[in-house]
Amino acid sequence: MGQERAQKRGSATLPTSTAPTAVSRTARTLRGGRQIHKTLNNIKITILCGLVTILVLRGTIGFSSLSPETDLENQAIIEETNRILAEIRSDKDPEDDNQNQPTINLNETYTLGVKISNWDHKRTRWLTRNQDFPNIVNGKARILLVTGSPPNPCDNAIGDHYLLKSIKNKIDYCRIHGIEIVYNMAHLDKELSGYWAKLPLIRRLMLSHPEVEWIWWMDSDALFTDMVFEVPLSKYKDHNLVIHGYPDLLFDQKSWIALNTGSFLLRNCQWSLDLLDDWAPMGPKGPVREEAGKILTASLKGRPAFEADDQSALIYLLITKSEWMSKVFVENSYFLHGYWAGLVDRYEEMMEKYHPGLGDERWPFVTHFVGCKPCGSYGDYPVQRCLSSMERAFNFADNQVLKLYGFRHRGLLSPKIKRIRNETVTPLQYVDLFDIRHSGQATTSN
Ligand code: UDP
Ligand code: MN
Repeated sequence: MGQERAQKRGSATLPTSTAPTAVSRTARTLRGGRQIHKTLNNIKITILCGLVTILVLRGTIGFSSLSPETDLENQAIIEETNRILAEIRSDKDPEDDNQNQPTINLNETYTLGVKISNWDHKRTRWLTRNQDFPNIVNGKARILLVTGSPPNPCDNAIGDHYLLKSIKNKIDYCRIHGIEIVYNMAHLDKELSGYWAKLPLIRRLMLSHPEVEWIWWMDSDALFTDMVFEVPLSKYKDHNLVIHGYPDLLFDQKSWIALNTGSFLLRNCQWSLDLLDDWAPMGPKGPVREEAGKILTASLKGRPAFEADDQSALIYLLITKSEWMSKVFVENSYFLHGYWAGLVDRYEEMMEKYHPGLGDERWPFVTHFVGCKPCGSYGDYPVQRCLSSMERAFNFADNQVLKLYGFRHRGLLSPKIKRIRNETVTPLQYVDLFDIRHSGQATTSN
């Protein structure tokens, strides 16, 4: 996908800052002070490593020379381990071997499945019959947050580590706000792999969970950075799709970054099923996706030449069939998606001046690492910059969670934490004071 895809998901309207942070300067000073201590530790570790190496070498040589059978056995185990690892890591499905030909008919418009009609009526009837599964709980519309990642391990272990941090961050947010969560690693439709995988998944979840009012898709490379803010659902009572973007970029400029599909909400209704049906046909991998990419590049401002992606396809659909727009809420009053490059260097400033719960440029709701590809090998930005920025965003958010327990990270780049207040014999006072659920956030309802 190359360099350009980063700009695709970025927002041209957001400020970016490349100024060195106070954190990096402080870190340098501290480093000097700890140098002697570190050197001593390093010497100790080196001696220890040397001893371990000698022991291991002795053991290995000893065994080999004593028992050729054990040697063969070990060899077989290593080979088997490597074979299994290679299988897991490879993208190939053994069932794909005989299927080099596209399985879809190129002359027919691709569909997500049998056409569902009258869903609103069927769903309402189901809800009436299943009152144990209400779509509104305590006055709040039931939300299902959906995210996922590829079926195979990331190209680098650090990628898997950040997927773990990303789901931990989402679990924290959902737990605090009473939102259910689904993590998907399967391609429900093998034609719709990669960033298209969300379409068949969202459709399936709508049909399997009629009790869910809103499906909220969030990319694995997007983190909640405001743990207090809640989506103001009452604002969207007449809309079915809520997506971050800018109407002028969409309709005046026909820009390929007018909307961002890294974080959006879709109401469980017939309209949404129809939208998914109309959105999917550019998705099937291979010639269909390639050809559709050419149409998108020719039609959307700033779009480089590459295969069709879900975001460009949605923008194209809304521009060419603007009747869809009556139910689309293009949101930019807070960061339902926030482009990371303009935000991550400002976290210290935000902590100094503002507080969680604002959700906008003062304290961004979501920070999305567009183009970083932490799980793949070919990101559009230097790996180190992406990883340290993700670490900062994660810790910025985690501090908001740790506050209830009386801790915070030593710095935005440190996994280590420190205590921020003394234990007390009246812990419930702290609960009332620091628990995010007591933050008096504007309530959300349908
Ligand atoms: N994704 C998935 N399964 C896959 C590949 C991707 O669920 O096999 C999801 C994953 O959550 C990822 C999202 O699709 O974050 C979109 O891709 P990405 O974030 O890499 O695109 P970008 O936002 O950088 O344009
Ligand atoms: Mn993304």
